Order: sequence, then C-alpha cells, then structure tokens
Amino acid sequence: MKKRIAILGSTGSIGTQALDVISCHLDQFEVEVLTANRNADLLIRQSKQFKPNAVVIVEDACYQQVNEALKDEDIKVFAGRSSLLDIVEMSTIDMVLVALVGFAGLEPTYRALQAGKTVALANKETLVVGGAMIMPLVHNKNIPLLPVDSEHSAIFQCLVGEWVNPIEKITLTASGGPFFGKKREELQHVLPQQALKHPNWSMGSKVTIDSATMMNKGLEMIEAKWLFNLQPKEIEIVVHPQSIVHSLVHFADGSVKAQMALPDMRLPIQYALSFPQRLETDYPKFDLTTCSTLTFYAPDRETFSCIDIAYQVIAKGGNMPCVMNAANEIAVMAFLKGEIGFLQISDVIAETLQKVDYVAEANMHNFLQTDALSRVRAKEIIEKIKR
Ligand code: NDP
Repeated sequence: MKKRIAILGSTGSIGTQALDVISCHLDQFEVEVLTANRNADLLIRQSKQFKPNAVVIVEDACYQQVNEALKDEDIKVFAGRSSLLDIVEMSTIDMVLVALVGFAGLEPTYRALQAGKTVALANKETLVVGGAMIMPLVHNKNIPLLPVDSEHSAIFQCLVGEWVNPIEKITLTASGGPFFGKKREELQHVLPQQALKHPNWSMGSKVTIDSATMMNKGLEMIEAKWLFNLQPKEIEIVVHPQSIVHSLVHFADGSVKAQMALPDMRLPIQYALSFPQRLETDYPKFDLTTCSTLTFYAPDRETFSCIDIAYQVIAKGGNMPCVMNAANEIAVMAFLKGEIGFLQISDVIAETLQKVDYVAEANMHNFLQTDALSRVRAKEIIEKIKR
C-alpha cells in the first residue's frame, strides 16, 4: 500500500522539495492533497503532474483560475481557509505534511491530529505557539508527530532505539546565517538582499530572515522543548557554520550521538515521510575526506538577541511565545519591505511582548486572539519607528 500524503503548503520551499522526494519514490508514496495560499500557477502545474484527489487554494480570488485549469482532471478544487482546515480530515489521507509558514500552520496541524492523522511537521511555529496544547493531544491519541526541521529530525534519529534512556541535554546546531561573526554596529544598515543570502540552505524568505537574526534557533529551542519533553536549560545552541552535524544528543553515560549529512532538506523530509524505513537516494553524499574541518562556536547572544528573547518567553509560557511569534512574523515582513532596519526586528518583538496581556493557560481561542492582537500591536510599533 502506498502512503497517501497531504502536503499543506506544496508551493513553498519544503513543499516543492517534498514533491521532489515523492517523485523519486512513486512506488512508496501517493499525493492525496496539495494546498497553496495564492500561487495558483504552481499549484496547477503540481496538480497536473501528481494528480492529487483534491487541492485547496486558500486565496478565494484564485479559485476560478485553478478550477478552470483543472476542469478536465479528476481533481476536486476547494478554496478558502476553512477548506484548508477541513481537508486534513479526509479519510483517504494517511499522513499530513505541514509545510505552511507561520502561525497559519497551527490550526490545520491541530485539526489533523484531532482527526488521528500522522503528522510530519515542518512548520515550527505550531509548537512554538501551541506546544502545550498540541503535545497532550499527540500523547493522548498516541499519534506519530514526525519532525521535519533538520535539527529536530537529527535529534529524533539519534533517539531511535534510545527511548528508555534519559537525555542529559541536546545541542541544536546553527549555521550562524549570513551575518555570523558580525557585531551589532555592522548590522545596522544591512539590506534584505544581504539577509536573504543564506550560506548553506535555500529556504523560504521568512525562515531565511529568522536564520539571519537567529530567531530561528530560538523557535527551534522551543520546538525541541515540546517535541522531546525537555527543559530549556537542557537545550544548548552551538554555531556550526558547515551545517554538517545537524544536532546532537548527550546521554547520562557521557556518550554523545550526532546525525550528520550534507545540508539538504530532502533528507529530513524523506525520513519523516518514510519513517521508520530509510529509502535509498542518489543525492550527493557526505564525504569526511572532502569535509574534514568541522567547527563549533558559542553564539553571540548580545548581537543576536532573539535567542534570549525566546528563552525568556518560554520561561514565562502561556501565550507569550505566541506574542513573540506574531511580532516576529510582522517585524520580518516589515524588514523585507524596507520599513524597519535589521536590528529593529528584535526591538519590535521586545516591545510587543510588553503590550499584550499574559494568559497562563491558553487554548486555541486564546492563541487566535493573542496572535491577532500581537500583530496589531507590532504594526503600531512599526508605524512609530517609520515616523
Ligand atoms: P515558504 O514560504 O517557502 O512556503 C510556505 C507555503 O505555505 C507555501 O506553499 C505558501 O503558499 C503557503 N502559505 C503561506 N502562507 C499561508 C497561509 N496564510 N495560509 C495557507 N498557506 C500559506 O516556506 P518554507 O517552505 O521555507 O517553510 C515552511 C515551514 O517549514 C516554516 O515554518 C519554516 O520555518 C519551516 N522550515 C523550513 C525549512 C526550509 O528549508 N525551507 C527548513 C526547516 C524548517 P504560496 O506559495 O501560495 O504563498
């Protein structure tokens, strides 16, 4: 039986790479659902190639175009946010790959888990915002939640066969992004084009900027806390510019296990899709003799202050990670539009955190409210900066 996969966000960086993986293993996987926000052209091309059972285009204005283009195919076409939420419950789906970006991933992931679907999770914002709500659901329903983020996939791979052994700590590696080694004063006037030039990975624009500010590591620390049931102090961040060691687990006996591979997201995507099997690939392979220097550094937490913001909000818990996440999404967009400077991204987040009330035990309703309010507050702060 082929595994029938729904890819939420098939037109993005993770989504297109997932389709790459699937096209190499058509004997194992079948595409059941594809979704996009507004990239109708690519969604149409993907649908004609992979012949899913159904597609969703979230932007209503694009529905006509997609429906018209697929009218001769046996593919159901839906539009709107509610269709995105409903589609994950389709009985013919075996696994939902959540490759959406931002807070938009939280509700569909929740709905997929509620419907008992195995979830492969690339969308890190889901656990950052709603880890306290998502993980009990995963445990109560005993549903596999498979990490796609390369660091979390690495930890997960190190833990296979180790479930009974306590973890002493984990090390999340960070490439350091395009501004590794730079000090605050050197980052004052950097442009979006510079921040978008990631040295090792080709990713969507939001996660690339998160990588440059190192908020990405802050988000991943919170994601790891929930996925692996750790305390933040048990999660260490280390800069590793070669991006070969994808993360490490330290065990009580002093052993350290690491997962290594060339930086290629198709690997962790494929591992999540095929788990517990490893499938053959013809991707370029890691060779110790050509990659003989691996270096590791403590992060510069003064310059990249988003790391500490993430540790602070997870210590507080409740809806505070949600506030941080929303403010970050808005600040990153404002930076990309040239409205604020690079260093002001963390300023906007820090100020937004002061302006939203704390909710200790947040549910989905609280998260939706907090997210909306935090976006409004962050935009107000950005307006003030622009004046
Ligand atoms: P992209 O921006 O490349 O793609 C995002 C996808 O989500 C697109 O299909 C987009 O559709 C869709 N989308 C965007 N906004 C919405 C919305 N509001 N509602 C519904 N669909 C939406 O992102 P990435 O693939 O880079 O990242 C996806 C997630 O994976 C992020 O959480 C990121 O942090 C994480 N991740 C990414 C990695 C990477 O290598 N890219 C590595 C590790 C983690 P459309 O194209 O129509 O706009």
